[in-house]
Amino acid sequence: MIDLDRLDFTKGNGLVNVIAQDLRSGAVLMVAWADREALERTLASGELHLFSRTRGPWHKGATSGNVLHVRELVADCDGDAVLARVEPTGPACHTGTRTCFGETARGDALAALDATIAARAAEPAAAGKGYTQKLLADRNLRLKKIGEEASELVTACADNDVARATEEAADLIYHALVALRAVGGSLDGVRDVFTQRAR
Ligand code: AMP
Ligand code: ZN
Ligand code: ZN
Ligand code: ZN
Repeated sequence: MIDLDRLDFTKGNGLVNVIAQDLRSGAVLMVAWADREALERTLASGELHLFSRTRGPWHKGATSGNVLHVRELVADCDGDAVLARVEPTGPACHTGTRTCFGETARGDALAALDATIAARAAEPAAAGKGYTQKLLADRNLRLKKIGEEASELVTACADNDVARATEEAADLIYHALVALRAVGGSLDGVRDVFTQRAR
């Protein structure tokens, strides 16, 4: 995983930077500091331990419950910063947002889209939040749309039309995500499948 002996704690007066990154979306969740002991605790427990420059030793989530499960720790080129690839159990920021950098740091646009679809699915259908809610409320419509968008993609590819093919692929992916959400699935599940296959 990581060799703590190769880290350079001297430049940071005993501390290194820690960047917590959401394993699934790639979003940067928060930035903090850690001393060697915090990293040892992280390795032993699998949960991110840090060192607050104002509050001292800090087990992230100890009071809020929003611990970060660490799947990988990676040192940077010169050993003064550590990337923690994590699975969050809740908002990483104490203000209640998913990341400390607001919604722009969500990761990729696909992750943002899937989060929006999840939010629409969680709202009462009576909220009438546009097309996504309409699809979520109508199984025949959303399954029919997958077929339509798939054949539009086929036609665009047959025409060698890259702009149209890109648009149609986006349409197909959106409708697939809605249909997947409607049966209780998510983009994270799709990512997990690809991660497994890449092993
Ligand atoms: P927690 O570690 O989530 O139980 O939160 C304990 C305290 O740590 C909070 O009251 C905040 O003062 C601070 N804190 C938690 N998360 C963050 C964060 N992402 N960035 C800065 N401070 C934080
Ligand atoms: Zn560095
Ligand atoms: Zn924050
Ligand atoms: Zn289309």
